[in-house]
Amino acid sequence: MSGLVAPVNRIIPFSAVDGPGNRTAVFLQGCNIDCKYCHNPETRALCIHCGMCVRKCPTGALQLVEGKVHFEPAKCVACDTCIKTCTHDASPRVLWMTVEEVITEIKKQIPFIRGITVSGGECTLYPEFLTALFSECKKLGLHTLIDSNGMVDLGVYPELLSVTDGVMLDIKAFSEKDHVMVTGFTNNQVLKNAAFLAKCGKLYEIRTVVVRELFDPAGVIESIAEYLCAYMDISMLRYKLIAYRPFGVREQYQTYESPDVSYMEQLKDIAIQVGFQEVIII
Ligand code: SF4
Ligand code: SF4
Repeated sequence: MSGLVAPVNRIIPFSAVDGPGNRTAVFLQGCNIDCKYCHNPETRALCIHCGMCVRKCPTGALQLVEGKVHFEPAKCVACDTCIKTCTHDASPRVLWMTVEEVITEIKKQIPFIRGITVSGGECTLYPEFLTALFSECKKLGLHTLIDSNGMVDLGVYPELLSVTDGVMLDIKAFSEKDHVMVTGFTNNQVLKNAAFLAKCGKLYEIRTVVVRELFDPAGVIESIAEYLCAYMDISMLRYKLIAYRPFGVREQYQTYESPDVSYMEQLKDIAIQVGFQEVIII
C-alpha cells in the first residue's frame, strides 16, 4: 500500500447518518475554517504537544515521550478531561494511521456495511491519503463518500474524484459576507466546488446549519437552488437542513437560538418549492 498517514480522530464502525446504508465513518483531524457553531471544536487543530492534558489524564493513558504526547487507547476511559483541558482546539487521542491500518479497521465491518464516509475536521486536507484509502475501498466493493466544507479545490484531484462516489458538501452561507461571518473565510471555493461536483455528477448532498442570527436561511436555500440549477437537476440532490444546537459548541458561541420544528418545516417547504425533492431536517 501507499505508506501515507493521516491523523485519525476516531472511527465509528457503524453509522446510519453519514450517507446511504450502514457505513463506517472515519474522522480526520484538522480544519481550515473556523465555524462559530462548530460542534466538535476539538477536531479543528493538530496537537502542539504542550503537555497540559497529559498532567490531567486520570488513567495514565497520556504520556509525554521525548516531547511528544503518546496516547494508549487501552487505558483511556473516554472521560474527555483532556479535551476540556486543551485550549488549542486539539485532541491528544488522535492516532496517525496508515491507509493499511484504517483499511484493517474497516474490514472488521465487512459485510455489514455498504460503504465508508470520511469526515473531519476537514478530510480534504489529506487528498493523497483519501485517494489511497478510497482506492483500497473500491477493491473491497465499498461505496465512498467525502464529507467536506468545500474549501479545498477538488477540481485539481481527478484521481481522488475517480474513486469517490459522492461528496456531501456544506454550503454554510451563500453571500461572501455571510460566509465570512459564519466561518471567517469567503466561499468562492465552496461555490466553485459545488458547481464542479454538480457538473461531474459527484454532488451527493448539500448541508446548511440553520442559525437565524448569522444569516437569512430562506435566502440561502433560494440562492443555492438558483445557482445549482445551471449545473444539474436539483430534484436529484439531497438537501440536509441542520438545526443549530449548542451542544459541544465553544462557550462564546452557545447563545444562538435553536430553531424550532415549525421554522425548520417552513424552510423545508421553501426548499421543496424551489426544486429540491429530498429535504431532510435534523
Ligand atoms: S479521555 Fe483523555 S483524559 Fe480521559 S482517560 Fe482518555 S486520554 Fe485520559
Ligand atoms: S491535546 Fe492540547 S493540551 Fe494536550 S498536549 Fe496537545 S495541544 Fe496540549
